Amino acid sequence: MAASGEPGRHWQEEVAAVVVVGSCMTDLVSLTSRLPKTGETIHGHKFFIGFGGKGANQCVQAARLGAKTCMVCKVGKDSFGNDYIENLKQNGISTEFTYQTKDAATGAASIIVDNEVKTLFNPAPAIADLDPQFYTLSDVFCCNESEAEILTGLKVGSPADAGKAALVLMERGCQVVIITLGAEGCVMLSQTQPVPKHIPTEKVKAVDTTGAGDSFVGALAFYLAYYPNLSLEEMLKRSNFIAAVSVQAAGTQSSYPYKKDLPFDLF
Ligand code: ADP
Repeated sequence: MAASGEPGRHWQEEVAAVVVVGSCMTDLVSLTSRLPKTGETIHGHKFFIGFGGKGANQCVQAARLGAKTCMVCKVGKDSFGNDYIENLKQNGISTEFTYQTKDAATGAASIIVDNEVKTLFNPAPAIADLDPQFYTLSDVFCCNESEAEILTGLKVGSPADAGKAALVLMERGCQVVIITLGAEGCVMLSQTQPVPKHIPTEKVKAVDTTGAGDSFVGALAFYLAYYPNLSLEEMLKRSNFIAAVSVQAAGTQSSYPYKKDLPFDLF
């Protein structure tokens, strides 16, 4: 996808295994003792700027695990946009297809594609009338509880509920459905595993769960791209583990672990 065309450079060397199409957002985070009412000004006790956006989060997590990644997105032609591109570069992500514009275009969903066909679709933020093609065109359809509720109209509060919602999503044409369940791990369903299976995780004391789902999706993209022979269940166990690490520190991308800080048996 990113061959340079220069003599002597091999196509394979340039190819990204995880390509993310999605949003890059700058998080402006204010910590306050309560939410302000409409029009009210209140004191905050801390403020910080972080890098977010569901697509970029997933890309950063995959890159930190060692994946060769490329971010396809558009940021503004402003200081936040410049900083964001620098952030992608610092995470070793290719910015060859990261564009800048005066319009603040934001992706509403992210698609992760590797160079061997697989498409992992994360329908966030979810809309009830999602184009039916998203169900049939993605190889892996991964959402969280609230997204599953919006998409199916079913209440999802337990692994059993998630299984029922996953069956509805499968009927719409998905090959593989994964619904993440916070501290309960996730539920999987596939054409070859037609009975919903709960993949529990070791519950951890969460410090900040922001971006946990993106850490999970990024880790899953990494395993799909680099360990395609692992069973889906094993990929999900490992993605659960990595996302659980991310909830134990504050922030979104700042909480995502690097390969060097993770147990060897995850790789
Ligand atoms: P989102 O951030 O999209 O709402 P979830 O809350 O479902 O997504 O979390 C995504 C994944 O993060 C879960 O499937 C699980 O692997 C992990 N996770 C989240 N919270 C915890 C927790 N308290 N303990 C262990 N793992 C967690």
